[in-house]
Amino acid sequence: MIMAQNFRKIGVLTSGGDAPGMNAAVRAIARTANARGIQVMGIIGGYRGMIHDEMIELDNRAVSGKIQLSGTFLYSDRCLEFKEEEGMQKAIATLKKHEIDGVIAIGGDGTFRGATDLSVRGVPTIGVPGSIDNDITASDYTIGFDTAMTTVIENVDRLRDTCESHARCNVVEVMGRGAGDITINTAIASGAVACVIPEAPFDEEACINKIIRLRREGKRSFLIIVSEAFPTLGEELAKKITAVTKELSEKEGNDRLWVESKFCRLAHTVRGGSPTLRDRLTATKMGVRAVEELLAGNTNLIVVERQGEIATCDIGWSQVLDRMYKGTLKPGMTDKYTAEELADMEKFIAAKKAEFEAAYAMFNELAN
Ligand code: ADP
Repeated sequence: MIMAQNFRKIGVLTSGGDAPGMNAAVRAIARTANARGIQVMGIIGGYRGMIHDEMIELDNRAVSGKIQLSGTFLYSDRCLEFKEEEGMQKAIATLKKHEIDGVIAIGGDGTFRGATDLSVRGVPTIGVPGSIDNDITASDYTIGFDTAMTTVIENVDRLRDTCESHARCNVVEVMGRGAGDITINTAIASGAVACVIPEAPFDEEACINKIIRLRREGKRSFLIIVSEAFPTLGEELAKKITAVTKELSEKEGNDRLWVESKFCRLAHTVRGGSPTLRDRLTATKMGVRAVEELLAGNTNLIVVERQGEIATCDIGWSQVLDRMYKGTLKPGMTDKYTAEELADMEKFIAAKKAEFEAAYAMFNELAN
């Protein structure tokens, strides 16, 4: 293992889906390392830049004026070549050529799989969770999550204004990949009447009946937040609410029962926008910690947030935990863990699921 005193130069990259706050993390990494006499190279376009030898030096001035910017000024790319041994070896050769002693990779679970591959081939590597989706099970928080939710809320509030004027319903699809974190939190914070998340079954009939009941009670406008994990559900639900309530209003001769419903997909708008204070602060703290770990000779780790504190965990452990949470474990993946370690993982997951269920229960009680 390369010890702290051997570090002269490190590389940093952003990879996978971009997230507001990635730039703040890169800035913190560059400034922390530079302050400790370590040169920092910014690898352009994620692992692609590592393979094709595209990098820029990140001295303190190069990261000026970046903390408030969204996207990633190092750019991001989805690089399939890096998944092959040949691509990986080219990337390692580039690192050797530049005498880069360690790498900090900012991104999601795919990025961390790439980081693991570098670690096992002898390159000290630390992962920093950057994803709007908050879908790294080992961490309570991923950089970009707060900004994305804030953007959803701003847009949904606008939709609510016009919904209220016209006594309509708006079904809004939000990003989050397989995780319902953005959906549930923004549903709570926007005062939605229903939400559709991957973590819980959705009862369409009950949802429509609730809208009808609330309309009979005099509620004018309705919001429903749907996770992008259900790519056709939102649009179909809007059509169904429109059709069912239209039929009912005709049957009862009461046009107030008709709830005209529109569908809106916020899509990538949610990925942009200046990072919130929460994202800038967390990105900064995580970036500083990543450099400290690397310089202390630690590798194969990701930086996480647990109960408000910055911490670290083994990258392989975090990947197994992720798969356990999502139910995608493959045979042999847990072999190296003791029964006690596995029990701890299960406890961790049970606590996370319980937290989610409590949020969902709270939402349903309030959404009336
Ligand atoms: P995210 O990091 O947001 O989950 P991706 O899943 O697209 O995004 O992963 C980002 C990049 O990480 C990929 O384009 C690829 O270069 C690298 N990567 C993903 N999976 C692996 C893997 N199994 N082995 C090596 N590299 C990987």
